Amino acid sequence: MKSHMIKLKLEKTKCIALIAHDGKKPELIEWAKKNKETLSKHFLYGTGTTGTLITEHTGLPVKTYNSGPLGGDQQIGARIVEGEIDFVIFLWDPLAAQPHDPDVKALLRISAVYNIPIASNLATADFIINSSLMNEEYEYEIKDYQKDPD
Ligand code: PGA
Repeated sequence: MKSHMIKLKLEKTKCIALIAHDGKKPELIEWAKKNKETLSKHFLYGTGTTGTLITEHTGLPVKTYNSGPLGGDQQIGARIVEGEIDFVIFLWDPLAAQPHDPDVKALLRISAVYNIPIASNLATADFIINSSLMNEEYEYEIKDYQKDPD
């Protein structure tokens, strides 16, 4: 039986969420500096501390939410559900326990549900930011779980 699908379209200008755990923030800041010109063509969002640090180090405007442990990951997850975030660079730290681990998992899960590209490391972030799709509209489909709950 054919699944019911919802067609979605990303515009040329993307809405990008940037999040890094403390041990990964220096890497993400360096990456943002290196990719400043490309990032300047898109809308940036971030958890509180990450977003503020990126603005301080690059001058790029970032709409910030709460700090991750205070619900920032959940706020970004909600923006994904509302269709306002197109992809996520999320440098979570595989070597440090986080008090908000359930929120981290929830963000990874909701990104999978909504077919959102999500980079967990800089190599993936490089592949995404250098993709020709960054400068194009992109049409894709997600399953309509309300019509097809199974
Ligand atoms: P922060 O949150 O940018 O406020 O540090 C990131 C996180 O821990 O998820």
